[in-house]
Amino acid sequence: MREPFAGLGVGAYDTSHRSVTRPNPAERAASATDAVAEPIPELVLVALDPEVARFPDECAGCSGYATTSEIVGRGARSVVVPYCTECLRRSSAARTRELATVIASVVMTAAVAGGAPLVWPWAGPVALSLGAVFASAAPVVATCWLLPRFLPRLARLRAVFFTWRGELAFRRPLFAERVAALNGSKELRGARRVERPAVAVLAGPVLAMVAGPVLYYLHHPLVRVLNLHSETAFVEVDGHFVAKVLGSSIESPAAGVDVRIPAGRRQIVARSRSGMVDDDRVLVRGGRHHLYAPGTHDYCFWLETMSYGRDGPPGVGRRSLDPAASFWVLPRKIDAWFATIPASRGEARWSGGDLTALRQARCRNAPGPSGR
Ligand SMILES: [Zn+2]
Repeated sequence: MREPFAGLGVGAYDTSHRSVTRPNPAERAASATDAVAEPIPELVLVALDPEVARFPDECAGCSGYATTSEIVGRGARSVVVPYCTECLRRSSAARTRELATVIASVVMTAAVAGGAPLVWPWAGPVALSLGAVFASAAPVVATCWLLPRFLPRLARLRAVFFTWRGELAFRRPLFAERVAALNGSKELRGARRVERPAVAVLAGPVLAMVAGPVLYYLHHPLVRVLNLHSETAFVEVDGHFVAKVLGSSIESPAAGVDVRIPAGRRQIVARSRSGMVDDDRVLVRGGRHHLYAPGTHDYCFWLETMSYGRDGPPGVGRRSLDPAASFWVLPRKIDAWFATIPASRGEARWSGGDLTALRQARCRNAPGPSGR
């Protein structure tokens, strides 16, 4: 068998990869449907300076007459590759496929990060985020890794491209030899490299890494469970144990336990060692704060909102929570749980606006609502 690089004196050509050139280039059919779509994942790397690189006047994809060209790479590291119309169309299809991959990846991210917390409400944030990352990576892996290896004909590979390391890679050894000879390059070597995809294909996985945790916490709002009885309470939601809460009746920021419960209608049950304390069907709202104080007790809760105006002392507004309920969707975000809020802006390091505290006291001691 004739050694394809024998006549070129390419000493640096790595003979361990000689199999790359096994098909004799001279025997290759020089047609537009050949070469680029040929199921040969191997390619030839040529060391040359892209800024001064020259190309022979023939199509890089099929050796045919070059009627057009395409810029490959970006900025200083770019080359103008000659193509025939058919091979250019094929190369353009590669770009379209890359765009389709980005879109598919982003759609997968949205579907999994947005839908999985609803379908699997009890899955954890790590599992849901990883699921979104894997789903968004699937189209990228299929396009950039699986397709060129197993279905190169469908992959519509480009004839000339830059690898991840910035080397210029050629699918057709004969064309690579001509380019090397034209540019006086002595360094040719065979390799099995995949085409470097555009950075944009990472958009979906990166988005999944951010959207996964954010959507999890939006779908799993905070519920402060407060046990006002002396006995320890065990709380279950839809049959899932969520918290063990020690009894505490003194107003304290450390009182109770914070849990994250999937949004939607939930059956919430509190038990103590002596029996059932509370069994309620509640609506948990995404992105809101909640309070759960199971069982009968003589405590009342109210929201205390301090508005820090530009002029005059801060105004205080009070709003009582329904004393008959045991589960509340709080109308505002709570800045201080079971504590007073600072009276001055300096202490609060607050640049204006409102701060809301959730307060508790025995109902006979609780203050009535006041205007703002
Ligand atoms: Zn061509």
